[in-house]
Amino acid sequence: MTVNEPDDGAGFADLALRPELIRALSTLGYEEPTPIQLAAIPPLLADRDLLGQAATGTGKTAAFALPVLQRLSPDGRGAGPVALVLTPTRELAEQVSQAFHRYGRELGVRVLPVYGGQPIGRQLAALARGVDVVVATPGRALDHIARGTLNLDGLETVVLDEADEMLDMGFAEDIEAILEQTPTGRQTVLFSATMPARLDRIARRHLSDPVRIEIGLIPTSEGSTPLVRQSAYIVARAHKPAVLGRVLDVEAPAAAIVFCRTRQEVDELTEALNGRGYRAEALHGGMDQEQRNRVMGRLRAATTELVVATDVAARGLDIEQLTHVVNYNVPAAAEAYVHRIGRVGRAGREGVAITLAEPREHRMLKAIERLTKQRIAVEKVPTVAELRTRRLDLTRAALREILLTDDLAQFRTVIETLTDEFDIVDVALAGVKLAHEATTGGTDEEDIPEVAPVSADGRKQRSAKAGRQRGGDPNAATTRIYLGVGRRAGIRPQDLVGAIAGESRLTGRDIGAIEIADRFSLVEVPEATADEVIAAMRSTTIKGRKATVRRERYPSKRSATR
Ligand code: AMP
Repeated sequence: MTVNEPDDGAGFADLALRPELIRALSTLGYEEPTPIQLAAIPPLLADRDLLGQAATGTGKTAAFALPVLQRLSPDGRGAGPVALVLTPTRELAEQVSQAFHRYGRELGVRVLPVYGGQPIGRQLAALARGVDVVVATPGRALDHIARGTLNLDGLETVVLDEADEMLDMGFAEDIEAILEQTPTGRQTVLFSATMPARLDRIARRHLSDPVRIEIGLIPTSEGSTPLVRQSAYIVARAHKPAVLGRVLDVEAPAAAIVFCRTRQEVDELTEALNGRGYRAEALHGGMDQEQRNRVMGRLRAATTELVVATDVAARGLDIEQLTHVVNYNVPAAAEAYVHRIGRVGRAGREGVAITLAEPREHRMLKAIERLTKQRIAVEKVPTVAELRTRRLDLTRAALREILLTDDLAQFRTVIETLTDEFDIVDVALAGVKLAHEATTGGTDEEDIPEVAPVSADGRKQRSAKAGRQRGGDPNAATTRIYLGVGRRAGIRPQDLVGAIAGESRLTGRDIGAIEIADRFSLVEVPEATADEVIAAMRSTTIKGRKATVRRERYPSKRSATR
């Protein structure tokens, strides 16, 4: 595909997807399949089992969702689901459900997310009405299977999404128990960022002759990555526009390309940036060649400083002046990253590559580092104070340049009349204020909270930290929850953290000290969340077991250890 051929999901059409899906992808602004989608969709359509090593951010959700939707019969669907997707957390269950909805809207797909902590009644009613796809956390899925409310007889596909994280959370036995109750002829799909030995054993037992796919692990030839200053910011999705604005202010690029995933994202971000006072222009496959040429012309002539683009639209562009490449998301494949940053730092000039990664995408950054054998420095988002200092520096530099180069005689009378009344330094200060406000505009100065990366490794660091710090804010009131399972049931701290984080709104960071006795465990949680945690843990299983869950009856003064 070249820049001359605006693409309307043609890459997806090559995958022989049904027109309803192609239209959905085009509406979402997906311009071409990601590498994992190219590799996984054909074998999945051919009913093969699949073992995919791919992290969040690679487009793996669509890779397994599209083949399931492709097979959905237009009418006369049964009551039970044809696909069951297991995810480690409720957030992921919701995300995956939304993805099925978005892709399968025209097909009228009935998707139900199922997780602990949510009233079971609503789930029961939805299951009774009939569903096509259930996306569930393992504990709650097992509950429904045991109650007979989740009928797996018509199941055609089981997907284990982020399987390594499910194992980390202590769901291995639940997963095996679920798989054992699914029909033998089913298709089984397993996606995982890493492949620990235990997962490999599960795969060997439950997958039959799977196609194996690894994404982002094809090493590029040494030295093919240009020497570019590479940095990344870990930010929550909601803060991305603000963080981008702040980073752009600090970096002050002469000409930058900001890469987005979809046309929609390109349009939204361009609008947001213009609203914040930047001169940004959109460039995507939905525009004709002439429109695209005009945008590029304006970037070359420095009338535009920022171009917001999709990969497809920016392919083949060569812009001498380019100083910065910004990845608004971690690219779906490490190769795309290398390709993008290859656009700066040419001919010995300094180039800068900046990546905004969501906490869950931290792992993709690591994969890119391994591939390029170069470090990506994770930077702190500039604070409001740093931003002010930087803006003052820019104003000072601009004033200095005028003092050195311009003829200022015509303004002399202004100074002379004002100094009759005011001190000359005060007059200068007023002039600086005017110049400063004119150049820095009204960009927002909200505080952007710091977020920690989330990954299997990150999780370990995080829980170790939580143990030391007793769950974040040391002043917040905490309560200990009694759970009637302990060492004899093989319970480890990570099983409890996993179950609580997976079934409630808490993260590992919110959970404090954990004490495991032979027959019970005590877990410290913020008082304000205790009831929610109790309700969630009562309606789920821990390592396949139902447990008594309540507040600790006889709180001791002695502090527990983890
Ligand atoms: P995932 O790795 O499944 O979490 O997907 C990461 C992000 O990429 C999601 O926001 C998807 O909506 C988006 N995405 C998936 N496939 C494509 C594609 N072919 N083109 C553009 N964006 C995509």
